[in-house]
Amino acid sequence: MIRSENGYFGEFGGRYVPEILLPALTELENMFNELRDDPTFWQEYVSLCQEFSGRPTPLTPLRRLSQELGGAQIWLKREDLNHSGAHKVNNALGQGLLVKRMGKKRIIAETGAGQHGLATAIVAARMGLQATIYMGADDIERQYSNVFWMRQLGAEVVGVETGARTLKEALDEALRDWAATVETTHYVLGTACGPAPFPELVTYFQSVISQEMREQALKQIGRLPDEVVACVGGGSNALGAFSAFLDDKEVALVGVEAGGISFEKGEHSIRMLPDTAEPGIAQGYKTLFLQDEDGQLGDTHSIAAGLDYVGVSPILAHLSQTGRVIPESATDKEVTDAFSLLMKTEGIIPALESSHALAGGFKRAKSMRLINISSSTSAVVVIRIFLILLEPFLSRSGRSF
Ligand SMILES: *Cc1c(COP(=O)(O)O)cnc(C)c1O
Repeated sequence: MIRSENGYFGEFGGRYVPEILLPALTELENMFNELRDDPTFWQEYVSLCQEFSGRPTPLTPLRRLSQELGGAQIWLKREDLNHSGAHKVNNALGQGLLVKRMGKKRIIAETGAGQHGLATAIVAARMGLQATIYMGADDIERQYSNVFWMRQLGAEVVGVETGARTLKEALDEALRDWAATVETTHYVLGTACGPAPFPELVTYFQSVISQEMREQALKQIGRLPDEVVACVGGGSNALGAFSAFLDDKEVALVGVEAGGISFEKGEHSIRMLPDTAEPGIAQGYKTLFLQDEDGQLGDTHSIAAGLDYVGVSPILAHLSQTGRVIPESATDKEVTDAFSLLMKTEGIIPALESSHALAGGFKRAKSMRLINISSSTSAVVVIRIFLILLEPFLSRSGRSF
């Protein structure tokens, strides 16, 4: 399991926030430290995921696709089969349990594409909490279907009109709300980023993914995979997929970032490869951030809204520096190719985010055939899939997901 040293992973992490938020973060950290080693708490969390979100999610063999690529056997961990269509609900459910224990009645979140907002609204409704979701005004227009469902679920969705009217402004607004309401309100951070203890806490809940994968691989394949490949936005699905394998040195852990259009500044969201991002402090923590010449947060691009982020989990920044996690990237073009190949050979419709893991995994699977043609090689690709139910709304939003 991943443990910080006072909130740090090597040089990354920490807690760089206005003083007014420190008591809430300390309260959260104390509660988390008390519960993380309590097997009854973990069992309560897993039971909730089973009852409410269909866990354990299957490990699906991709037989036709593996044959097409040759050599490596590829399996998918099907986080798309969670309630609301992605892994984000795992974390929201876990934090919901913490909120109940802290006796708070209100939760807030910020959301870009709307997936984390939707997961938070679902958990609020289920647990009888009040929810306010901050979202850039432009994102509200682009992601109207998710906004519609959040409101149907009883959440208040607040459009933020300042600045570029996207995720960054929504985040600032959510932090402002939290500073004013911290005694009654919990901030549900959606990925393994932000001030301590969030990176560790989100990873703890998402580690349910790899705990299941490890058991399923031993049972269904009869051995551990050679590689686990996951896409990296903030890093929560990747850390969820990696954490139970960290001590299995023979299992390579590969994080695929958004290669976008090109390696030019502003045309990708690669933070872990050399000569892309630099260490910096922003948004409450220290990590590798994409920056411009003046050290301001840089522009990013990805075909997948969930991977279009300037920072990366401090845990992944550290694990990539120590060499335990191998950074890879996939371009928009490679991603759309992988997306179609999976659909046509396996009848599974992936999210564009997850298609980065596919593209990265396919490249590696092909080279495994050359290196390792005789042994039975398996690669597990972590993938989640966009909620197919939302299809009727998609054509209106003008984006493909
Ligand atoms: C949100 C999202 C991501 C990116 O977030 P992480 O914290 O990096 O996991 C990746 N895939 C899907 C399907 C998502 O919805």
